Amino acid sequence: SIVVTGANGHLGRHVIEQLLEKVPADQVTAVVRSAEKGAELAARGVKLAVADYNTPETFDSVFAAGDKVLLISGSEVGNDRPGQHTIVINAAKAAGVALLAYTSAPGTLSAALADDHRATEKVLLASGLPYVLLRNGWYHENYTENLAPTLEHNAVVAAAGEGRVSSASRADYAAAAVAVLTGEGHENQTYELGGDTAWSFAEYAAELSRQTGKEIAYNAVPGEALVGLLTGAGLPEPFAVILAGVDASIAKGELVVDSGDLSRLAGRPTTPLADAIAVALKG
Ligand code: NDP
Repeated sequence: SIVVTGANGHLGRHVIEQLLEKVPADQVTAVVRSAEKGAELAARGVKLAVADYNTPETFDSVFAAGDKVLLISGSEVGNDRPGQHTIVINAAKAAGVALLAYTSAPGTLSAALADDHRATEKVLLASGLPYVLLRNGWYHENYTENLAPTLEHNAVVAAAGEGRVSSASRADYAAAAVAVLTGEGHENQTYELGGDTAWSFAEYAAELSRQTGKEIAYNAVPGEALVGLLTGAGLPEPFAVILAGVDASIAKGELVVDSGDLSRLAGRPTTPLADAIAVALKG
């Protein structure tokens, strides 16, 4: 079967949704941390497995020989994610799965946030399992899901200078993952995934202005100022520093992915940023 970890997360739900358009539900296993939270998935007819990346035993019977696995990277930044992912990779190896695809970060990204992904890629390659690296670029939703402060202050604040981002929607990245899980010939491939069009923060502010009728400007600030703003808004300092590091990478062009892999795998153009803004504004 096809086994998806992190199935109850934002990306995982898109993956399950799109898998169900291609394969019978009883061939899909959703790995979740809580059976109650997975009830909605179970109602769609997919099999549920309850397991936690922190607890090796919980993965003992999740995988079977020949399975194709999507390991969606964990969200507990700072909680030894490479160690967590290694638990899943070891269990998949022991079971003899046919393929393990991992949601990584762009190969160009040097920000600290990429360290866990590079470490996991190393473990996966050393495991000898047939692998796929889905090096996901940034989600539109990183920007559009939390528009309230931007609309309140009429300002897009970032420490990204003139840098551009080729983001795409979570649904686009899910489509690439589904293509890999249901298609042939992806063994040991590395895909650099990003949206078809890279945008600057000034262009993003201009599109927000167009769609809201307000005057929204891009306020480019230094990294330290962004850390101050984010901690002032209640973010823990280590996480604010990580986010400022991502902006510094954007300023250097590290989140521009122009391989075309994402639209090629999805079999269609990627979702324009303007569409994601429109969805977010409709609320
Ligand atoms: P979410 O936070 O919505 O989902 C994360 C998923 O990982 C959840 O299903 C969560 O389970 C699961 N998870 C976390 N920790 C564990 C654990 N210890 N054991 C088992 N499952 C665990 O993130 P998204 O779906 O939006 O994104 C998927 C991943 O992509 C993120 O986890 C992160 O690694 C990365 N990411 C990428 C971004 C990008 O722009 N490319 C932006 C943000 C994150 P549960 O449902 O039980 O909480």
